[in-house]
Amino acid sequence: MDKKTISELKKKLEEEQALLKKDLLKFADKDKKIPDDYDTRFPNFGDRSSSPDENANETEAYEKLLAIEYALELRLKDVNSSLKKIKENNYGNCEICKKEIELKRLNANPAAKTCLICNSKKQSKK
Ligand SMILES: [Zn+2]
Repeated sequence: MDKKTISELKKKLEEEQALLKKDLLKFADKDKKIPDDYDTRFPNFGDRSSSPDENANETEAYEKLLAIEYALELRLKDVNSSLKKIKENNYGNCEICKKEIELKRLNANPAAKTCLICNSKKQSKK
């Protein structure tokens, strides 16, 4: 892969990284001990004397946020590891077959870890 392509993909990754961090911070706090780990804040809709109904809503909202946090964190980890690979000149190779990942796949998802062939094999197994 040529340098220009890599730097374009790197830019995309950095933009996504910034966006993911921003999204996470809307409802979660950064964990001070674990890098790139976030803790979802418990939503507080009202005062403590709120009805059991309201408490149930809060719990439900919290669980939804946890699921979102998990998805965003996973994505952030993928983005971070791709940026690390770029730094180590190790970017763009499939983690399974070690061949270069198709450029059209990287353009669609710069954090892709596997090539199209390995990815479709992986999915058909499920
Ligand atoms: Zn592969």
